[in-house]
Amino acid sequence: MESSNSDVRFCRFVVDGRMYSGEVHGESVSIVEGDPINGITARLRISYPCSRVKFLPPIMPKKIWCVGRNYADHAKEFTNELPKEPLIFLKSTSAVTGDGDFIRIPPEFARPVHYEGELAVIIGEGGKNIPEAEAYDHVLGYTLMNDVSARGVQSTDCQWTRSKSFDTFAPMGPCILLRSKMPEGTHIVTHLNGRVVQNGDISQMIFSIPRIISFISTFATLERGDMISTGTSKGVGELVPGDRIEIGNDMIGTLRNICVQ
Ligand code: MG
Repeated sequence: MESSNSDVRFCRFVVDGRMYSGEVHGESVSIVEGDPINGITARLRISYPCSRVKFLPPIMPKKIWCVGRNYADHAKEFTNELPKEPLIFLKSTSAVTGDGDFIRIPPEFARPVHYEGELAVIIGEGGKNIPEAEAYDHVLGYTLMNDVSARGVQSTDCQWTRSKSFDTFAPMGPCILLRSKMPEGTHIVTHLNGRVVQNGDISQMIFSIPRIISFISTFATLERGDMISTGTSKGVGELVPGDRIEIGNDMIGTLRNICVQ
């Protein structure tokens, strides 16, 4: 992972059959006690190469809020009209899975299944009616999510809950980058079987992160530990068993998953 800045990357991982919280530093991960939601209580001088550990989802999100059609070039892929306000839906937390885990492709009726590489916000301090100008104060950090979607049932169901919530349809991680705001020029890049298929610049979002946070909080109380996945850029496409799908950002790391039947 990129190690050119001092931001903390919180993770959870398994090594030698035991589960730990940790912080990623370059190509190694060191054990910490606690978590950034409830507080880090100790940093231990024990570290492992990232290549030796299995990353887990960095937190279990309380809810998964998602934003549909938040990049104009993606909306056009499906000839959808651009939304006039953020298009918000929920994805089941039971779909959460981690870096290195399998994405299970459901049977024929639900296919095609598409990947959607996205930047996801983790909420630190909750709130209601959060002004846009204060929205970043509520951000704990950022991770990556693959908003896996079963197109075969997405349009026929009239709403998106089933299409977005099959088990393993919310790979997230590998860590949470603890900072309130991502810099200009942040890119989320998706590789399918080693080939670049998406390269989204977050400045292309129709609705900015502060606007999304503020908008959701007008109708629902945002809670500590909520995750908001901010939408996908153009280049979505089909996943089939055997595919290797990777979503990367040079500050957060790379979320890698393999698709199985
Ligand atoms: Mg999406």
